[in-house]
This record gives sequence, C-alpha cells and structure tokens, in this order.
Amino acid sequence: QAQGLGGSHVLGYTAQMNAEASERLRLSNDLYRALERQEFELHYQPQIALQDGRLTGFEALLRWHHPRLGRVSPLRFIPLAEENGQIISIGCWVLAEACQRLASWQQLAPGVRMAVNLSARQFAAANLLHSIEAALDFSGLPPSLLEIEITEGTAMVDAERTVGTLLQLKSLGVKLALDDFGTGYSSLAYLKRFPLDVLKVDQSFVRNILTSAGDRAITQAVISLASSFGMSVIAEGVEREEQKQLLQQMGCDAYQGYLFSPPLSAQDVAEHLPEWMTARVPT
Ligand code: C2E
Ligand code: MG
Ligand code: MG
Ligand code: MG
Repeated sequence: QAQGLGGSHVLGYTAQMNAEASERLRLSNDLYRALERQEFELHYQPQIALQDGRLTGFEALLRWHHPRLGRVSPLRFIPLAEENGQIISIGCWVLAEACQRLASWQQLAPGVRMAVNLSARQFAAANLLHSIEAALDFSGLPPSLLEIEITEGTAMVDAERTVGTLLQLKSLGVKLALDDFGTGYSSLAYLKRFPLDVLKVDQSFVRNILTSAGDRAITQAVISLASSFGMSVIAEGVEREEQKQLLQQMGCDAYQGYLFSPPLSAQDVAEHLPEWMTARVPT
C-alpha cells in the first residue's frame, strides 16, 4: 500500500507539472492576441525626491487583464513574452503609451519624468532606437523626460555591446537607469563605462535595510558608488517611514514604494497630480 501511495504521489506531481506546462503554453498563446484585444494597461508609480518630497517621476508598470484569469503578474507573463518574441510589439506599445501619457500630464506636472522598463530581448532588438524615437516623436515628449530602465542582468548579457547600445540611446537624449542593481554581477569597470544617469537599489536590499547590517552596507555602497560616478540613486520597494528616513540619512536621492503610493492607473494619477505638485511632503 505504501508503494501505491508513493506511486500516486509521483503521478500527482507529474500531473501538476503537466498542468503548469500547459498553463504556460496557453498564457503564451494568449499573449499573441492580448494587444489587439486591448488587455494591457499601464500603471504608474510615483518617484519622490528624498531631499524635499518633490515628485520627480513615474515608473510605468505593465498590467495584463486576462479574460479568464483576471490580472496576471508581469513576473509571470514578461518571461513568456520574452520567449515567444511578443515582448517586441508589447514593448513598443508600452513606450508609446507611457510617452503619450506623460505628454498629456505636461501642463500639470512639468519636468516630471517617465521611466519605462525594457526587457533583454527588446534591448538587443534591431528596432530599439527606432521604437523609442517613434514614441518620442508621436507624443512630442522632450527626450530628457523619458528614462529607459534596463536590469543589471540585461546589461551584463553582453556588457561590451551594452556600452554601445547605451551610447546610442544617450545620443537620443533620453535618461538611462540600471534597475535591480546589486542583484547581478556588474564589474565596476563596466559600470564606469555605462553612460548611466540613475542606479536603482533593488528592493531586496531595501526590504531588510533596518534589520540587516549586510543589506545596509550594500545599500550604502551603491549610494557611494553612484555619487562617485555622478549618477543619482533611487531606492525601490520602500514600505516604511523608518526605511525612508534611513535612506535619506544615507544620502539616497529618491525613493518609490508603497509608503508613498502603489502603482496607480492613469486616471488615479491624474486625480492626485494637483495635490502632489503643490504639496511638498515634509521629510
Ligand atoms: P521592477 O521594474 O523592479 O519594478 C518594481 C516592482 O516592485 C513592481 O512590480 C512594483 O509594483 C513593485 N513595487 C513597488 N513598490 C513596492 C513596495 O513598496 N513593495 C513591494 N514589495 N513591491 C513594490 P510589478 O509591477 O509586479 O513588476 C514586476 C517586474 O516586471 C518589474 O520589476 C519589471 O522587471 C517587470 N515589468 C513590469 N512592467 C514591465 C514592462 O513594461 N516591460 C518590461 N520589460 N518589464 C516590465
Ligand atoms: Mg523597473
Ligand atoms: Mg527594480
Ligand atoms: Mg525589482
């Protein structure tokens, strides 16, 4: 009987793995029609200066409303879109939508930037510069208000090539940010050669900044590194007032996180903008 139970256990495990694989396949297939069916939406998370509480920018974050499953996390569908190549057209849509949205907020929020995430495949694509230029031209947004985020992992896939691509992007006049910094293995020699404007301290360090001396030391090192390279630093995933205060003491420039606001729909942002642009949150 023990043997039987063991057998069915193994069988159950296999069935679960098959279910998971076929779910992935279905999701991957569903991605092909998601754009034309208008199932994507961007949410926007405010980025706040630590020095004076000023709104400095937004990060655009992609949302997929799946007809059967409801909201699917980008952590789940972005890798699938990477694999099946849909990330290229989805990424073009994200760029265009984010630029148009910020352009529509120009009167209310002059000088506020929009950060857009690029995946590895998008970053390596032949149409990268063209799709960014098209989004800027169509929206009329000044290039300096667009910030392109790539992860440290993406940057290091082919670091030598990354230097060239970043220089090309730089020549468009856009800002460049390195996301999830500290989670990968950038060599300092490359970090110096990447023409970056912003380093983003990964939220895994921010999460434990109050309790872990190690994570605090890493965060401090990132902040020092950025300042010696003339880059600014933004901390992501700030959920508590004490984390924000510590980051401020450490010399971090800006933060984003649930403490100030989760990512919001365009409509919710538009409602908050007048208040955010007048109030200087005391820090
Ligand atoms: P990311 O670029 O590092 O984005 C930060 C993630 O942290 C977002 O998750 C955001 O909602 C979440 N977050 C913000 N504040 C807090 C906080 O205080 N606490 C915690 N625990 N989390 C917080 P989200 O929106 O689920 O996105 C996950 C990842 O998916 C992003 O990580 C990014 O790598 C990717 N992604 C999202 N949108 C896009 C996109 O348009 N294009 C590409 N290529 N990737 C995207
Ligand atoms: Mg990001
Ligand atoms: Mg990040
Ligand atoms: Mg992250």
